[in-house]
Amino acid sequence: MIVVMKPRAAQQSIRAVISYIEKNGLQVHLSEGEEVTIIGIVGDKSKLSTENLTIFKDVDHIVPVTESYKLANRKFHPEATTVRVGNTSIGPGSLTIMAGPCAVESEDQLMCIARAVKAAGATILRGGAYKPRTSPYSFQGLEEEGLKYMQEAKACTGLSTICEVVSLEAIEAAVKYVDMIQIGARNMQNFILLKEAGQSGLPVLLKRGLCATIDEWLNAAEYIIAEGNPNVVLCERGIRTFETATRNTLDLSAIPVLRTRTHLPVIADPSHSTGSYKYVGPMAKAAVAADADGLMIEVHNDPAHALSDGPQSLNFEKFMALTSELAPFCRLMGRKLGEEGI
Ligand code: PEP
Ligand code: MN
Repeated sequence: MIVVMKPRAAQQSIRAVISYIEKNGLQVHLSEGEEVTIIGIVGDKSKLSTENLTIFKDVDHIVPVTESYKLANRKFHPEATTVRVGNTSIGPGSLTIMAGPCAVESEDQLMCIARAVKAAGATILRGGAYKPRTSPYSFQGLEEEGLKYMQEAKACTGLSTICEVVSLEAIEAAVKYVDMIQIGARNMQNFILLKEAGQSGLPVLLKRGLCATIDEWLNAAEYIIAEGNPNVVLCERGIRTFETATRNTLDLSAIPVLRTRTHLPVIADPSHSTGSYKYVGPMAKAAVAADADGLMIEVHNDPAHALSDGPQSLNFEKFMALTSELAPFCRLMGRKLGEEGI
């Protein structure tokens, strides 16, 4: 349930409502707009008399929130959220490009990719150090050594960094070296990991589960925010459908649907959703046109010899061409590409 205060309600009236809610054993989530303040109520509403609330001074009206996610809900927080990641941010007005290899393979490989993606306009370097591979015999990642290379690449290029975490141990290591952690599709409903991510203090990129509905995905985000970490970014990375021509099906409609349901930034991953470098460009452009706040794209210096996800990785030339092709799409959508803009 949310309490919508009258425009320019007095601070004293707002405080009176908050104190009434808290005295009834419920928690409050405050969203202060330019004119209107919204007070979100989290907890067991049976403890509260809604009718009493309506007679408080400066209360305009009460809106029931039927969805189980509250803190992630747009009704609780009507303005779009911007999430700060290292020295960049993800949110309205810009298109943030996260790019880099699927897996960190060596110091040289990462450094060379970091320089190339930066030159092409990316502001966040991605690189997997813990790889949740489908086969246990595939390359599993360099773990902490890979995270150290991410830190070095940041120091050399100024790029912010993101790395996937798959366990508490990985989170503990990641906080020492990177700016943002990623919860992958396979762990979207690993509720223990979500809670740990919520306590990590780092912004979290939450990828959509392979078979997760938007509602389940937003509830997963709620787990992180409920631990006191509001810095969550959602990433549409394709869902499993009957179609086999692509690795997954990029659910582009999830972007406008999420806009209505949540205030959290939304980015798209055209690499894991299509599984082929050939389709990355068109789907990246489509995602920008659908108003995504950013893109995650896999880039490799030598895709044919990549230790993971080579077929969907762009080489430097293709990535550079794509970022310049994205420029008119960004202009059309009123977004600046990267920090400086184009
Ligand atoms: C990745 O980003 O490298 C990855 C494994 O993605 P997903 O969890 O979307 O499959
Ligand atoms: Mn990958």
